[in-house]
Order: sequence, then structure tokens, then C-alpha cells
Amino acid sequence: MQTITDLIAGHDDALPAIGAPGRDWLSYGGLKAQADKVAADLHAAGIGRGDRVAIVLPNGPEMATAFVTIAQAAVTAPLNPAYREDEYAFYLEDLKAKAIVLATGYDGPALAAAKRSGLTILWLGADEAAPAGTFELTAEGSGGACDTAAPEADDVALILHTSGTTSRPKIVPLLQSNVAASARNIAESLALTPQDRCLNVMPLFHIHGLVAAVTASLSAGASIWCAPGFDALRFFGWLADAKPTWYTAVPTMHQAILSRAPRNAEIIEAADLRFLRSSSASLPAQVMTKLVETFGAPLVEAYGMTEAAHQMCCNPLPPRGQKPGSVGVEAGPVVRTAHETEDRLVEGTGEVVISGPNVTPGYEGNPDANAKSFFEADGRRWFRTGDQGAFDEDGYLHLTGRLKEIINRGGEKVSPLEVDGVLMDHPAIAQCVTFALPHPKLGEEVAAAVVLKEGAEATEKEIRAFAAERVADFKVPRKVVILDEIPKGATGKLQRIGLAEKLGLAES
Ligand code: ATP
Ligand code: MG
Repeated sequence: MQTITDLIAGHDDALPAIGAPGRDWLSYGGLKAQADKVAADLHAAGIGRGDRVAIVLPNGPEMATAFVTIAQAAVTAPLNPAYREDEYAFYLEDLKAKAIVLATGYDGPALAAAKRSGLTILWLGADEAAPAGTFELTAEGSGGACDTAAPEADDVALILHTSGTTSRPKIVPLLQSNVAASARNIAESLALTPQDRCLNVMPLFHIHGLVAAVTASLSAGASIWCAPGFDALRFFGWLADAKPTWYTAVPTMHQAILSRAPRNAEIIEAADLRFLRSSSASLPAQVMTKLVETFGAPLVEAYGMTEAAHQMCCNPLPPRGQKPGSVGVEAGPVVRTAHETEDRLVEGTGEVVISGPNVTPGYEGNPDANAKSFFEADGRRWFRTGDQGAFDEDGYLHLTGRLKEIINRGGEKVSPLEVDGVLMDHPAIAQCVTFALPHPKLGEEVAAAVVLKEGAEATEKEIRAFAAERVADFKVPRKVVILDEIPKGATGKLQRIGLAEKLGLAES
């Protein structure tokens, strides 16, 4: 059992830890000094062990170090900087935040909401001339008395909300030991060493960036170069400047990167990526193949979720290698696919269940969700992921979809992932998402939204005919809408649930 402090403690002070465009590197020694300073500043402001600190900052090195250093003295709760005032008011109350970190000069909706709730405001001032990720905290207001002891392994380190892909976001508290275990699992899967450098483009209010990019790297003494967020146009400039050995992204980002790749052949040629990583949503096999071809490096797809402090399965690096269409082998927690159980697991195709030191102790303030999500069997406590899948004979997990997203067409169950896979083989289709369309008689009908490749043409009729040649009639989308862009959630994920309403198709 470990804490975030333990993860970082052993590394050579001279090694680079955090970088950013145009900034000097912050060393491990600098990061440790920053953590001590932050702890002292928090304690002086009456914020200590167990107190919850919301963090609303733009993506970048200060966001990374604010998370890593505040988590060593209190509880961090990063929030999406794109929320509106009422959303902040809701989240700050939901989290029971005592303080909020905002960038000096910020005057947006998070400040208004924080003032409404009477929170202590911790103004973060960064100096562009100082190494990346160093900052000063200036408190406005005081939290009163606080516990100045260092957090222990079973204290909460990080509170996040799930992405809200399938329902209202749920609050997930993650312990110091959950985050530390997951970071170590990821570093081991990726064989990270101090020679590795991650180019981070993932949002740092989501588990993927916080743990896979930042904390896993720090657990291995590796470095992270923090981009100011994802931007396909600037990605190749960052690749040239940061000289990373890897990056991690969600599939929609990889697709956007691929669409710009032909114009950046020289930078790609000069890059020295050891591997690429994809996680958080299903990566179409066609996109995987194209990425490997384009970057000349292996792709590693991992399966993660907020409740597991990210990683559950991961495809192994070569020589064992990635199996296209699989989310990999068990990589941390015990992972099983099980039928409905009492006190014994009955294995086979079914819901993916997990058990391990990286798994949250339970949702906060949501006894219903906990009762539905956790169960005891075979002497372990298991968490139901809500995903469905099966292991193959080599121990690779193949997901067939989310239980909530399976389309029920008059009793015939259709896996939207399967239909996505078929449509992605169409030469004109760059991106697609299959979803349920409400239907008066069948309950649900199959529909798909697609984005065409630049310059390519195809009609709805052609696409449906293409699908009809490849899958049973009941799986063929009755409706195919061709869009310039498919709406995504805040973390860049495609959201199948509610898409029909969003596209104005629910009544048809
Ligand atoms: P909510 O729980 O609020 O509906 P969410 O499940 O999307 O939102 P996250 O915790 O960000 O929130 O995402 C975890 C989910 O993402 C997993 O349960 C799984 O469905 C999906 N996922 C993650 N990695 C992969 C992958 N490699 N392939 C397919 N799906 C994946
Ligand atoms: Mg979920």
C-alpha cells in the first residue's frame, strides 16, 4: 500500500519531471520542493489532510503539478474548465469542496460559483520564466483549523466524476493506494523508465491523463511534456519540440491526428516513438492499423475506467503484442467476465467484473449505485464495470459493448461496436458511431452517424447497401446520417446514448 509521495520519493532529484512548450524542465528535486511548499501554503490557509480542493485550471504543466502536489497534502478534485456557473455550483457542493484553485487573473464562472459557496480561493500564480509547473499559491479566505499530517495510503487522494456517457456522472473517490497501484500497473505494462517521455494531450480533469500520462510516468522517474490541451493542428509541432517516446489519447484524437499526418511526414519521420497508447473508448481496428503504419511504432490499446483509477487491461508490447479488436490482457486488477452470480463467479461471455487494489471503495453518496455495482464472490469484492465481453484462449479480452448501449431491436440484441466495425471498412468512412433510434413498434432501431474522409463521397443508400452485404438484415442501420463532426462528451468520447435526441432524430 502506497501513497503518491512514495511513488515519487525514490527518483534522482536531477532527472527531468515536467516540461512544457517554451519552458525549462522542472526536475524531480524541483517537484519535491514544490510539494513541500504547497503543503506549507495549504496548511497556512487551513487546508489539510481530508480537505477537498477543487482545481479549475487550463490544461498544462501547472495543472499537472497542482494535482500531484496538492494530492500529497489534501484531496484533489479537478473539474472541467468548460463548465458553466451552475455546473460548478453543483459539482462544488456535490464534492463538499473546502477550497478551489484558480489561475491568478481568472474571472470566470468557477470563481462566481466558489464565491457563492464561500470557499477559500487559492490563487495559483505561475512565472513563465520559472521551470514548467512551478507556482505560488495565495489564499483568499481561510479554511480554519486543519490536519497537517501527511495523507496515508487509505486516505482519498482524488475525486472525479465519471464521464457521464451512460448516465448522470457519478462521484468516484480514489484512495492514495488506488492511484499508486494503478500508476504502477500502467508503468509496468508500458515498461516505462527514466528514458521515457510522454507528450500529454489528454485533459487533466479525467482519469486517463491524470494517471496514465502523469502519475504513471512519475512512478517510473520518466518525464511528461504538458501540451495546453489537444489540438490536431499543433500536435505535430509538439511532437517535434517534445521529442516524446510515447503519447496516449482517446480514439477520436488519434483519428484527428491521422487526418493531419500526410502534411507532417517529415516530423513523423524524425520522431522516435517507442509506442502509442489508446484508451477510454473502442479503437476501430482500421484506425489502429493506420496508426502503426503511419508512426512505424506499435500501438498499445488499454481498457480503463474512472472507478479503476484507469487501467484494467492492456495489450502487451511486442513481442507478445497487440491483438486488433482486443483491449488486452489483465493488467493490474483481477478481471473476469461473469454471468449473474450469487457468491460464486460463473465465467463465460458476460459482464466484465474487476477486483484489485486500484478499484475505488465505492461511489460517494450513491448507495443505490453501490448496491448494484459491488458484490462478493469467491472470497473477493468485485465491481461490475457495465461492459460486456469475453476472453479468448490467449487471455485477451474482447469487449462487445456496454450493457446500457446494446441496441434492443424488438428483442434482437445488436452490438453497436460490431456495426461500427463493419461501417469503418467502407472506403469513404473516416469515423462512425452506431446508436439506438427510438422506434414505436420495435422499441429501438439501429442508426449510425458517419463522418466521411476528406474529399470522399458516399450516400446513405450506398452505405446501407454496403452494410447489408456484410451483416444480417436486423443489424443494418435503418438510418445513416452523414455529418461533418460527431458530437462528443467533454473527454472526447463519442456518446451513443442520447445521440438520437441530440441529432434531432428521436421523433422520426
Ligand atoms: P459513465 O460511467 O458516467 O457512463 P464513462 O463510463 O464513459 O461514463 P469513464 O470512466 O471515463 O466514464 O469510461 C470508462 C468506460 O470507457 C469503460 O467502462 C468502457 O465502456 C469504456 N472504455 C475504456 N477503454 C476502452 C477501450 N479500450 N475500448 C472500449 N471501451 C473502452
Ligand atoms: Mg462508466
